[in-house]
Amino acid sequence: MYKNMITYCSNCDDLVEFDVKDEEIKDEYKGQKIVFRFQVGRCKKCKSEVSTDNNYNFLKAYKRIEAYEKAMGLITIDDISELLNKYDLGKESLSDIAGFGKITIKRYFEGFLPAREYSAILYNILNDEKIFMKYVEANKVKLKDVTYRKIMTRYERLNEIGSSKIDQISNYLITHLEEVTPLALEKLLFFSNGVNYALNGSRLIDEDSQAWAHGPVYPCVYNKYKKYGYKPIDDGIYSTHGCLVSKLSEEEMKAIDLVIKTFGLYSPKTMEKISHSQIPWIEKRNGYSEEEAGNDIIDENSVKQYYIENKLNSEENIMNYILDCVKS
Ligand SMILES: [Zn+2]
Repeated sequence: MYKNMITYCSNCDDLVEFDVKDEEIKDEYKGQKIVFRFQVGRCKKCKSEVSTDNNYNFLKAYKRIEAYEKAMGLITIDDISELLNKYDLGKESLSDIAGFGKITIKRYFEGFLPAREYSAILYNILNDEKIFMKYVEANKVKLKDVTYRKIMTRYERLNEIGSSKIDQISNYLITHLEEVTPLALEKLLFFSNGVNYALNGSRLIDEDSQAWAHGPVYPCVYNKYKKYGYKPIDDGIYSTHGCLVSKLSEEEMKAIDLVIKTFGLYSPKTMEKISHSQIPWIEKRNGYSEEEAGNDIIDENSVKQYYIENKLNSEENIMNYILDCVKS
């Protein structure tokens, strides 16, 4: 995206071409040593750091402060935003629940740094829904009835998603991509399970998938979301803390992230085309005409073999593989 773009280099005192590289930056902020990663712009001529766009310095400052907060054990604004979203709370309600002064959370968003002790409370609430509910019960008198009822509904929904691994994976996919339709979700689940074989050697999804006319389907997920038809599923809850990802290992999340960055870029129809070029699905459609319903169980060993043989374990390999599928 930066190809052939130019920027000003103060060292060369000229407009120059530049490269962008993910670099580890060691720095100091308010007397605290910090380390963070940043997409650094470098002048092609003299290698000095250059701004790659108008937001460059702001973004870098933001990353520095975030690294400082992490180094000090302080909760970051991103994590507080995630907390508000996870429990569907306003800033004042969260202040009440955590037992802080009413405007405390609001002030963090204005740039005040949370104390370590307050950070610890917020992290506990973010990471553990049961701890959250303890705080809710303890500070119930401060909450309006309508807020309390809303919290209970949210808590139920969190537990619902959190209770099964395939629901956690579905929720992760829905909330990390835009506009995931039921058709797309089925494909993304199948690809995730396959990529996990290629990346980690193990099965990701315990449920069996079936070879339906429009590609592989996990019937339990299909039944849950069929009401959306061709519309995007909109009941996901974004959070990578606590019960929403508790059944997923870090390695498994890497496999799902890899699917999001590759297969996830394509339309549902293209995903369908890709799935129709995969042997594990094709071999179970033998004897069926194109549009004919079928529910033969797809062979997991065949999936494992196919994804490992096609080396679908890196961004580059998968993108090349997709281009091959789409071409044919
Ligand atoms: Zn230069």
